[in-house]
Amino acid sequence: MNTLDTRLDLSTTLGGTMMDVPLNIGWVFEHVLRNHGSRQVVARLDDGTTFRYTYADFGKRVAQLANALVALGVKPGDRVASFGWNTHRHLELYYAVPMIGAILHTVNIRLFPEQVVWVFEHAGDKLVFVDASLAPVVARACATTQAEKNFSFVVMGESDALAGADDYEALLAGQPEEFPWPDVDERSAAILCYTSATTGDPKGVLFTHRSTVLHALCAGLSETLGFKGSDSVLPVVPMFHVNAWGVPYLIPMIGAKLVLPGAKLDPQSVVDLVNSEAVTVSLGVPTVWLAVRDLLEKNDAYLPTLKTLVIGGSAVPPSLYDDLDKRGISVVHAWGMTEMSPIGTVSRIVAELADAPHAVQREKRLKQGRFAPLVAWKILDENGNDVPRDGKTAGDLWVRGPSVTASYYRVGSDLPCFKDGWFHTGDVCTMDELGYLQLVDRSKDLVKSGGEWISSVDLENTLMGHPAVREAAVIGLPHEKWVERPVAVVALRDGQQVDEPSLKAWLGERIAKWMVPDRIIFVDAIPRTGVGKFLKRELREKYRDLLSSSA
Ligand code: ADP
Repeated sequence: MNTLDTRLDLSTTLGGTMMDVPLNIGWVFEHVLRNHGSRQVVARLDDGTTFRYTYADFGKRVAQLANALVALGVKPGDRVASFGWNTHRHLELYYAVPMIGAILHTVNIRLFPEQVVWVFEHAGDKLVFVDASLAPVVARACATTQAEKNFSFVVMGESDALAGADDYEALLAGQPEEFPWPDVDERSAAILCYTSATTGDPKGVLFTHRSTVLHALCAGLSETLGFKGSDSVLPVVPMFHVNAWGVPYLIPMIGAKLVLPGAKLDPQSVVDLVNSEAVTVSLGVPTVWLAVRDLLEKNDAYLPTLKTLVIGGSAVPPSLYDDLDKRGISVVHAWGMTEMSPIGTVSRIVAELADAPHAVQREKRLKQGRFAPLVAWKILDENGNDVPRDGKTAGDLWVRGPSVTASYYRVGSDLPCFKDGWFHTGDVCTMDELGYLQLVDRSKDLVKSGGEWISSVDLENTLMGHPAVREAAVIGLPHEKWVERPVAVVALRDGQQVDEPSLKAWLGERIAKWMVPDRIIFVDAIPRTGVGKFLKRELREKYRDLLSSSA
């Protein structure tokens, strides 16, 4: 796309122009403190008790944290990592770190131990803030390498699992409740988040202040997430993964009550928190809600305050939608990805369908939804032509916009997913005449189990390392609890034998247990495309019901 330079020439417009102020997170912070100071943040702590404060008090602690960071030697551009659940302290980091010009690196607590250390090193983290309940996890991760560490720890809560770590509360104590906030340039990096790659190491996406603020504004619109100041919002979606879908900035910005669930995400704990904090809106991946649904059904219970559930990260199972609908909870389906900050689409009913029958509205709501503003899209066939907007013809989805990444951190943009200013999502979609996007397949080789990625390529390579295995293709199949689980289709070498339990046991010694495929199917040969790639679409079709029928 060509850029047309039409900036006003001040000498000819007599100065008639807008203020040129940087679009930084400081604007959100300032707005929250000045306008929503009395609204609440509630956090459930590890011991099950609740911590509660106002946004005004939150602001004071953010300033104390900023002072503490500076005292620890954190400078603009430095990376500061967080390894934690959704808590008030994590929220404080989301503001203090970027507002002093440093970068908050939110680390996925479910990475392999080796990957945890790798990601600290790759990011070049200087300091790592760790929840007390996760300190043993980080200690174990650090024990996987002898290499000297270039980062130090701050523990949030009480734990002595990390020797020499500073204590979060001790660092804040006595610090001034004000800070001379710098006016950070809007194109500075604010947050760093790694996403699973098809193969190999995770890839870092660096969100800028500008992209973060624009994302929060667009996410907040009534046709997007559409929350209100009177809402009580429970993000079950983790703050360690894609900015909890923008919640840490959006919810304070609109002055809604923010309820942070901490480490306990079992269905009973979620239900208790919804009831005790009169939660009206919650957000998360389907797995959590499938378990909550089961619990509600078992007890024939209702959640009287909960009106809206935003579900994304994986497709919403229609049965979940219907079961929650019966209990008065409206499911709002959303789609996005880390590379998009993450919100891309949200399924709301357009004006044209306002009076449409329930069945028609249901069909649309189960699609991934309509695009948020500031996300351009195109769906292309294999020849690079736009597919028709008929809701039937599928193609590759590309996106572009101010909150879409242009490259990966310390990797760059020299990858096939970045082309001519567009980003290839790896999702295969249809688009209907009313603008509803529907995902029909994934061209990227990843399986998404309970909201967490499993690289099928890595699994295949591990499997093919077994002496009896000639070739292996791993696919994700629909699963009632985890939405998707890996299944391996394996062809053995001539004259070799191995059975399913022993191959699974062998894998279990080499990869995390939750990544071991649910089933391993033995075939003579794996179907391939004309260019020799595994025909995974055919495998997915053939074994579609394998896990649901055996469940
Ligand atoms: P997140 O898990 O927060 O959505 P990721 O970057 O880890 O972010 O994953 C993005 C990918 O997850 C998408 O490209 C898509 O394949 C899948 N995904 C996200 N939302 C949905 C959805 N509503 N339906 C189906 N797949 C989804």
